[in-house]
Amino acid sequence: MTKSDAPVCLITGAAQGIGWETAQLFAQRGHRVVIADLDGPLATQRAEQLGPDHLGLACNVTDEDDAKAVFQAITQRYGRLDVLVNNAGIGDTSAPTLEQTPSHFRKVLEVHLSGTFILSQQAAAMMITHGTGGAIVNFSSIAGLTGLPRRNAYGAAKAGIIAMTKSMGAEWGAQGVRVNAVAPGYVRTALVEKLISDGLLNAQTILARTPMGRMLAPREISEAVYFLASPAASGITGTVLSVDGGWTAFGAAGDPSGAPI
Ligand code: NAD
Repeated sequence: MTKSDAPVCLITGAAQGIGWETAQLFAQRGHRVVIADLDGPLATQRAEQLGPDHLGLACNVTDEDDAKAVFQAITQRYGRLDVLVNNAGIGDTSAPTLEQTPSHFRKVLEVHLSGTFILSQQAAAMMITHGTGGAIVNFSSIAGLTGLPRRNAYGAAKAGIIAMTKSMGAEWGAQGVRVNAVAPGYVRTALVEKLISDGLLNAQTILARTPMGRMLAPREISEAVYFLASPAASGITGTVLSVDGGWTAFGAAGDPSGAPI
């Protein structure tokens, strides 16, 4: 059983993938975890898997009323919030740009940008009002730091998240709310495995482009999120931490000597 004064961490989109891995890590390290996901029944099931101190809630991060209901539930059950992880996200179609639709473009921006904005605003209000401060960790991507063909909406959304991370970090620094982001490379989630098996992602191309020569495990992203949220990062705000096996650091077409990387 987690202590009754244990910190409280809200993670969006934590019913699956990197978010679920992150929820397990925070719970193992003594946080009471709130899983807020579009898939309400799975969020509840996941919270039950973590134990009786944790909470699973249905929430569409683009819906302000859903978000308000999540914060009301947190206030009632725990009376505090220490960490928000804005993890919820959806992918691009990866269709050629000439075939992409404005409605899909808007939807991707809505989930990533509006979702991060709405949840951060309400979390910071709670952290500032209670005078406790706290930490927000956002999810950017290598797609927000570089250009990836066909990924217009996703790249724009992830770049926008970096801008918001800096703006909010600068605004709330004096009030004790730190805001940072992780920018993962390709992570071996069920989603990425499916894209590979469906022929929409070429694993060999990705591995050849990654200095560490492998895709990352979800836990490696969660560890970076945990660090940014923890007191170990007490002097860090407004930053973006690349967790990508060296992907963004590598700017050449290959080793200039011709040797394989
Ligand atoms: P995933 O598809 O495995 O899980 C995403 C979760 O978000 C799901 O549980 C889904 O139900 C939930 N969700 C989707 N839309 C939502 C909404 N509107 N409101 C609430 N919940 C919603 O994804 P993942 O691979 O674990 O990705 C997690 C985050 O990491 C995303 O922000 C993604 O863009 C980012 N990311 C992933 C990778 C990767 O390689 N997997 C790389 C870089 C960045």
